[in-house]
Amino acid sequence: MIELEWWHALMVGALFFGLGWGAGRVDLGAVVRSATELPRAYLRGLNYLLQGRRDEALAALSEAAEEHRAPPELLLAVAALRRERGEFGAAIAIHRALAKREELPESVRLEVAAELAVDFHRAGMLDRAETAYRALLGGPRDEWARAALVAIFESEREWRGALELLGTAPTPLPGAREHYAHLCCELAEEALAKGDLGEMRRLLEEAAATRGAPLRVLLLSGDLKAAEGLWEEALAAWQQIEGVAPAGLALVIRRLATVWPIEGRSTLLPTVRGWLQRHPEVDGWEWAVDLELENGCSEEAYRSVQAALRTAPSWQVLEQFFRVAAWRAPEPWRADFDRARDLLRSSLVRLARYACQACGFRAREHYWRCPACGGWGTFPPSRSLEIKERE
Ligand SMILES: [Zn+2]
Repeated sequence: MIELEWWHALMVGALFFGLGWGAGRVDLGAVVRSATELPRAYLRGLNYLLQGRRDEALAALSEAAEEHRAPPELLLAVAALRRERGEFGAAIAIHRALAKREELPESVRLEVAAELAVDFHRAGMLDRAETAYRALLGGPRDEWARAALVAIFESEREWRGALELLGTAPTPLPGAREHYAHLCCELAEEALAKGDLGEMRRLLEEAAATRGAPLRVLLLSGDLKAAEGLWEEALAAWQQIEGVAPAGLALVIRRLATVWPIEGRSTLLPTVRGWLQRHPEVDGWEWAVDLELENGCSEEAYRSVQAALRTAPSWQVLEQFFRVAAWRAPEPWRADFDRARDLLRSSLVRLARYACQACGFRAREHYWRCPACGGWGTFPPSRSLEIKERE
């Protein structure tokens, strides 16, 4: 008898490892303890499993579990496995049946409620997921449920709801200050789009008070001033970025070359030249050269790009070098420089991308929230090149 129990426990252990189940969320000890009380139907299921007949194994295990009031840990494991296979209806049914059991200890009841919320979430039933997560707020799973709710709101771009959840957390979620500031900034951008500058100002003050996302807050503070027509104040806000996050000057130079009133752009040149002299690695050369050339300063543009090619060479700088070199080259060489630039530019358009530092997602645009992993502020404001080498 003792031998049989040993064998039995071993088999249940094999079930979990055989299914590729990370033991993380399952109390394997509890499963093994209860394994000695399991009916033969489980052995049939395990037998299928060891033969690689996973569908039949799961069917047998689930059926046996229903008939014999199996231990909740085992049911949780089977349900989670079904969910992993995309069988959301089955997972929900198991969790619902479990939730109806009256004798469940409180910790297991909580676990079942949490798993049910995950079922709804993964199945894309967001309204139900929201209700299920909300029911867990204020309890021992508050932080976990709150983070999941915030992710749901953010996936639907409901910044206000996410902000409220962050603001009412009993203990701040990880990275809360940065996160909170970004949410205020999202709402500030919406206010700007609606022309509600008073609301934008209020939101930016709220964001600034957190001291999170300083680059974005300064950029938007400048945008607010620009929208009010206070260009000098806009520039003053953007100038502070050099001291906070110099790489962010790329985003400023782009703004200056596109939104600043054309008649006043020549006054920006000394400021922009100073920035790039001190931080030649900033990915703003394209727009800086736009500003120089549109003001007839091809010689200055040539000298500063040439210096950058020596101190902080990059593909972007090289492209600008060909561009300004063409301007001052004698006729027979000019076309060659233009051709070299065109070649490089077509490659840059294809290959230069902003890249998320958290998950590696690459995008043509700069994002404040990564569309792939949902991370905030994970995109540096410089583009990088991905050149795949041939084997
Ligand atoms: Zn990412």
